[in-house]
Amino acid sequence: MRENLIESKKEMIVDLTHTGWSLLSQYHQRAADGELTGEEARERVKERIRNIKYGPDNSYYFWIIDLQPQVIVHPYNTDLVNRDIAEYDNPGFREVVLEMADICRTEKQGFIEYEWDRVGYSGSIEPKLSFVRIFEPWDWIIGTGVYMNDVEEKISTITKSSSLMFGAFGFLGLIFSAFISFNGIVTERRLIRAKEQAEESDRLKSAFLANMSHEIRTPMNGIMGFADLLRVADLTDEKKDYYLSIINQSGERMLNIINDLIDISKIEAGQADLNVVKTNINELVGYIYNFFKPEAEKKGLSINCYQPLDDEEAMIMTDKDKLYAVLVNLIKNAVKYTKKGSIAFGYTKKSEYLEFSIEDTGIGIKEDRINSIFERFVQADIDDREVYEGAGLGLSISSAYVRMMGGDIGVVSEPDKGSRFFFTVPYHPV
Ligand code: ADP
Repeated sequence: MRENLIESKKEMIVDLTHTGWSLLSQYHQRAADGELTGEEARERVKERIRNIKYGPDNSYYFWIIDLQPQVIVHPYNTDLVNRDIAEYDNPGFREVVLEMADICRTEKQGFIEYEWDRVGYSGSIEPKLSFVRIFEPWDWIIGTGVYMNDVEEKISTITKSSSLMFGAFGFLGLIFSAFISFNGIVTERRLIRAKEQAEESDRLKSAFLANMSHEIRTPMNGIMGFADLLRVADLTDEKKDYYLSIINQSGERMLNIINDLIDISKIEAGQADLNVVKTNINELVGYIYNFFKPEAEKKGLSINCYQPLDDEEAMIMTDKDKLYAVLVNLIKNAVKYTKKGSIAFGYTKKSEYLEFSIEDTGIGIKEDRINSIFERFVQADIDDREVYEGAGLGLSISSAYVRMMGGDIGVVSEPDKGSRFFFTVPYHPV
């Protein structure tokens, strides 16, 4: 959980530093175009950067130093600005500024961990994690960072609420096992197995919580960071569009997660009802094909679909929304987990059933995980989770929906070769 939180903070400060960097580059361009003198451009962008503050009590901000190194902009520690670092009262700060210049001289950009005076927090020196990047045309270095105490505080809040929840589970479990032991019907071996299962489920729940907080926090940070930048920066329409598109994508990612959570909660609460209507499956398949084609092609993947029945035979009675949701989930995964090659999907008629199939040439699934991917919380448990965003709920929702419609779902897969997901729904022609 700690790693996830820190990772999402890192993503946030990298994004923000790059955005601050583009602000510098924009002003540099205005000077190059003769719209401003070099001096004017620098002064104006300094003012802009100085005003960008965010985070708790606005205690997060950007700063600029140069390679000398000297502080050029610091909204809070103004006493450091334009002063020889040899004169700093705090030798720790000197080291930090020197190290930032070193990182940028050798690597052009990078993370740095150190301790800094947190403004507005009664002079407390707190651990901080920052990202810095050089802006070569002016030999400036721009950076922003987060105070780690906030991260720790969040971790402890999450831990508290999750331990409360697990505490309640544990308590019920205890009463239950005390009761059955009392009745003398449980062997020791059974108890051990139950304990192992409870531990496994606890572990999955913790991983799920950590993953969820990452999945929600990452887009949220994107939305807040870029909304802030939109407000303060003097932006071209092009940049504005770009920032708005990031806000939009982040919003969409949030919405997907929230929808998944609502769906799974409805399923768990037994409130997901079947709504059988006339459905033209050829139309459905065609619609989904057209929907995913641009995304697949953008990734360089070819995508094909097949609909062997004629339109009259393809008119069936089923839950159209659920069938649509399952197909979308499976094809979305096929696109997500395939780097090159192709995706093919469609259906075939097998006596009383239609069998839908979604085949990809993607990363595949290891044998030891294949049985668990339809369970809730499972994506949170994979090692390379960071690479593929997602909450790990899509397949469990899909499998619940398929079962509700009276069918079955399965997968065959080979790592590095690809996967074929298939599911059946009863064939009830209209
Ligand atoms: P999510 O994609 O949000 O993680 P899902 O429930 O849809 O959640 O999938 C669960 C896990 O199954 C994924 O994290 C991934 O490891 C694996 N998976 C699903 N579809 C594919 C696929 N087409 N190729 C490879 N792995 C897949």
